[in-house]
Parts: sequence; structure tokens; C-alpha cells
Amino acid sequence: MDLEFRDRLDRVIQSIEKARMGVSLHHIVKIVAVSKYTDSHTIQKLYEVGQRAFGESKVQDFEKKYSELENLPIEWHFIGRLQKNKVNKLISLRPSLLQSLDSIELAKYLNERLEQRGEKLNALLQINSSREPQKAGVAPEQAIDVYQEILERFPNIRLKGVMAIGKHSPVVDEVRQSFREVYQIYEKLQKDGASICSMGMSGDFEIAISEGSNMVRLGSILIR
Ligand SMILES: *Cc1c(COP(=O)(O)O)cnc(C)c1O
Repeated sequence: MDLEFRDRLDRVIQSIEKARMGVSLHHIVKIVAVSKYTDSHTIQKLYEVGQRAFGESKVQDFEKKYSELENLPIEWHFIGRLQKNKVNKLISLRPSLLQSLDSIELAKYLNERLEQRGEKLNALLQINSSREPQKAGVAPEQAIDVYQEILERFPNIRLKGVMAIGKHSPVVDEVRQSFREVYQIYEKLQKDGASICSMGMSGDFEIAISEGSNMVRLGSILIR
């Protein structure tokens, strides 16, 4: 067992505990360790100290690590921008959750491929909470309509909730506000079956949890 990784994970879990207890004793938060910065060896070390869910942002890297770690029952998440020409490959790797579904167009393409293969895929709708045009995700104003349209038109995609990257700002209140807006969307989508609100990264996960996040994606704080 690698004590350094155990300590890092323990410290993160303690911070998450504090934040989630502030919301409610019943508020459970899942950790997805973002492994895009690292290799299979390090993933295995984190696995050995108890981490099970890992997130990758490039299909090629995901494929490599997936095959190197095939013997471990890792729960893989895909969190990066998905190009159409990588869709078939991604489906064949059977991720447990695609967190970065970010347009109707991608949903349509993905659904066609899934239908051809007779498969289903769990996904989150990515929301561009900071409204920066170069960032991925649907605009907050459109998120509910887009979510419902995907539910209605694309039955091979199983939408489970929403994902967002918080606003990149030194002003805590602005970061908080961006999470709050996404949470309000998530709340409205619960009647449509949404159960995952994935928000919070290494620099802002405590704020995200206090605004209702139940899934955090942590990279640099776990893996340096
Ligand atoms: C890289 C990445 C993360 C992790 O970022 P850290 O700040 O290193 O924790 C989380 N979510 C997404 C979508 C990412 O691309």
C-alpha cells in the first residue's frame, strides 16, 4: 500500500465529509478521480487505497489505460470533449458514465451508433455554467429543454443528470453562483429522473458540495 496516496485520499475524504455534513447527514458525495494527468501505475496505486471510479478526458488515453488495467473492476467515466470520430471507440470501451454530453447534435450521432450496436449508455448533460463561448456545454437557459429533448428523441442514451465546470474566478461568490445555477436546473430535472449533479474539481469542490453537488471530479489534488 502506498501511504502517500492513502494520506492524500484520506485528506480529501475528510474535506468532503465536512462539506457534505454541512448540507445534510444524508447527502452522499461520490469521488471520481480524474486520471488524465497520470499513468496506469498511479491509477493502480489509488485503486489499492480504495478509489474505484476514474475519469479520463481523451478517448485514446482512456483506451490505453483501460487495456492496461483490464483486470481491475474500475468504474470508468469519460469527462472530455467527445469528437464524432471517436464515438464508436468510446462505446466499445463501455464507460459507466459519459459526463460530457454537450449538444443535441452529439446526442443524435451517439444515439444512432448505440442503436446500431444494440447498446445503451449512461450520460450527463454538460452545462456551460460560466457562459464562456469557448467552453463546452449547453447554455443554462437551454439546459432543461435540451435535456427533455434528448430524453424523448434518443432512447439509447440514459440521461442521469448534469455536469458542469464551475466558473473560473478568484471571487468565491461568482464560483458559488455558477454552481447554484446548475443545481437549480438539476432540481427541476429530478422529476425527469436526474439523480447525479456532477460539479466541483480540486480547487472548488467544497463550494460545489455546499451548493448540492453529489459527484466531484478530482484530479490535481489526488494526483500530482
Ligand atoms: C481535468 C478535469 C477535472 C479535474 O481537474 P482538477 O482541477 O485537476 O481537479 C475535472 N473535470 C473535468 C471536466 C476536467 O477536464
